[in-house]
Amino acid sequence: MRLVDGAAKPGAKILVSGGSRCNVTNAVVTERDYWGGRRTIIRRVLSRLPVPQTIAFFESLGVPLKEEATAKLFPRSDRSRDVLDALLGAARELGVTIMPSTRVHRVSPAADGFDLETSQGPLRTSSVVLATGGLSLPKTGSDGGGLAIARGLGHTIVPTTPALAPLMLAAPGIHERLSGVAQDLELALRVDGRVTERITGAMLWTHFGISGPAALDMSRHWLRARLQGHEASLTAHLRQGQLFESVEAAWTNTAAQHPRLALQTALAEMLPASVASALLDSLGLDGTLRLAQLTRAGRRALSHALTALPLPVHDSRGYSYAEATAGGVALEEIDPGTMESRKCAGLFLVGEILDVDGRLGGFNFQWAWSSARTAAEGLARSA
Ligand SMILES: Cc1cc2nc3c(=O)[nH]c(=O)nc-3n(C[C@H](O)[C@H](O)[C@H](O)COP(=O)(O)OP(=O)(O)OC[C@H]3O[C@@H](n4cnc5c(N)ncnc54)[C@H](O)[C@@H]3O)c2cc1C
Repeated sequence: MRLVDGAAKPGAKILVSGGSRCNVTNAVVTERDYWGGRRTIIRRVLSRLPVPQTIAFFESLGVPLKEEATAKLFPRSDRSRDVLDALLGAARELGVTIMPSTRVHRVSPAADGFDLETSQGPLRTSSVVLATGGLSLPKTGSDGGGLAIARGLGHTIVPTTPALAPLMLAAPGIHERLSGVAQDLELALRVDGRVTERITGAMLWTHFGISGPAALDMSRHWLRARLQGHEASLTAHLRQGQLFESVEAAWTNTAAQHPRLALQTALAEMLPASVASALLDSLGLDGTLRLAQLTRAGRRALSHALTALPLPVHDSRGYSYAEATAGGVALEEIDPGTMESRKCAGLFLVGEILDVDGRLGGFNFQWAWSSARTAAEGLARSA
């Protein structure tokens, strides 16, 4: 068996993942943590290598995992290098020949298998597992070449967009002066005027727009809506769980109880002080104003901003900054019991090349591990 990889050092994404700690999986993984193809298919594939078996598998390779308070699992050593070394070491022990710097240009079905055209010359093989990833972080070698190979072998490619990508906001905007500030909030996506997605978590303001878990998880929804030609708009809810009316009533009460309290001081009790100042400036409200002097219009504008602050997204930062790819090889063209192609016998597809993308938290690797295990069993049976 040969592992053919265009990169000089296979597994670069494992090394950079999870801040070089590799978030291997999550304590609880279900099909609801994923988008893309049919969730019944995703569930079936996940069930072939569920989380407890994933933990046991890495333990057997000498990489015990630890669960953090966020439910994410990392190697106990906190070193992604240990995950990669263990996987490559296990492959070598099983007799796999690792062929780095060998880019596959074309895969053609032949009488008794496949002919591969590679940067190192032709190869003949009885079956092929396409594990070429999607388009995220193309400098690691996952640049969509595998999608072209799958298309050439008869597969439908669901149009791709970045996923888990930072989002860029129109300038000028408050993000520019808030770069580096993090806060907990709820993001709401409206598609054609209707809220279709709400995501709660930490968001990071950056010089170009927004990042952090909530923004990354939201990116695929905004991008997919736009890809499908819908009107998509994003708002931030800075007072989670409170409606406009209750926020407005709270301001009225606070003003009655503390009429001399400065607006900036009152707001900084709810939000990071820098966000409070930026928000007041953007609304044209003077932070030194006493609460008793706040007009009805000012109070309403502030309550609106706190419950639905418009975030004028114009795009994501693209595949070079995305942690995953949405879209890919259509899932229903794969047999979920073996990961074998329904279009081309002897071809197996696993991981991010497929139309499956998980949320942040170890779900994309779990999909890669589970689908790879399914394919390994499928291959073993077909051999
Ligand atoms: C910065 C970053 C951090 C991440 N952190 C996490 C995390 O902590 N937890 C998590 O669950 N997920 C994380 N992910 C997502 C996760 O890394 C991917 O979902 C996962 O690596 C996909 O595995 P894969 O094997 O399908 O593809 P990849 O890991 O993309 O591997 C594909 C391989 O195929 C090779 N290749 C591609 N085309 C060809 C070709 N034509 N010929 C030969 N070789 C080819 C590439 O060189 C590459 O080595 C992160 C992603 C990024 C970018």
